[in-house]
Amino acid sequence: MKPLILDSALGTELENRGEYLPSFKTSIWSAYSLIHNPDVITQIHIDNIEAGADVITTSNYQATPELLKREPSAPSYDYLAKRAVELCQEAVIKTNTKTKIAGCFPPIHVTFRPDLTSKEKHLRKFYKTLGAIYQDNVDVIICETMASLYEGTIAANTAKDFSKTVWLSWTTRGNKLNRLPSTELLHDVILKSIDLDIDCQLVNCVHADTATLAINSLNKEKSFGIYANSSIYKKNKLEGFISDSDEWHYHNHKHIDQVEYGKYVSQWIKEGASVVGGCCRTTTEHIKVIRKIIDAI
Ligand SMILES: [Zn+2]
Repeated sequence: MKPLILDSALGTELENRGEYLPSFKTSIWSAYSLIHNPDVITQIHIDNIEAGADVITTSNYQATPELLKREPSAPSYDYLAKRAVELCQEAVIKTNTKTKIAGCFPPIHVTFRPDLTSKEKHLRKFYKTLGAIYQDNVDVIICETMASLYEGTIAANTAKDFSKTVWLSWTTRGNKLNRLPSTELLHDVILKSIDLDIDCQLVNCVHADTATLAINSLNKEKSFGIYANSSIYKKNKLEGFISDSDEWHYHNHKHIDQVEYGKYVSQWIKEGASVVGGCCRTTTEHIKVIRKIIDAI
């Protein structure tokens, strides 16, 4: 079977369309558009489908109970999850396609900050609520940008109760290319997660060349996927001190365009990836390039 193509970065697409998008560290980020301008989100889904995506992901990544506390007037996370599913369904109907929908299980607190995550009971309740909304309405549940074995395991285990297909995606974004933000080794985390008996383990929100390095660990799972950022690792001279793994990631990076990104995708496919797509700084132009690569197989 040919690899499936995931969609491009929601945040980047929103920014390129002039949407209000403050820092994800201090705001509700993309959830602002989900609340105030859902039409733009539907259009982004449609543009991704037309560019060649096989799977579109719900837009409620930042709509979690912890992050929504930042906007006391915001609707609840479960209402926003339902809306996010509806917007995907609307895009599939409008394009008259059989595009699959992935229901997002995001980190409950700030991305790349596993130290801020919730107690197990609270975390399970969050994922159970999302799971009940996704059940029968999505084709796959995708646990995204997981930054610790603890959060990834709880997310994937809960997802299994609500979806036949579960994907679990780790990030190693930070100052060590082979470790999660929790400091756990990606290799160990992947091996331990094979026991979860899910469909696919992935990495996302890492540099494209860093993602390639992860394949030696990812390929221990029955199927693996990658949706990286449109960048490669480049050590840059540091003045002062950076403690934040996200800042470290951006400090040591070089942007690449969709053509360059496509070369990495070809490599991942050659090495066996069955799901590919794009994370930060990727656009529908990247999806078009990936579509061409896969159509040529
Ligand atoms: Zn990313």
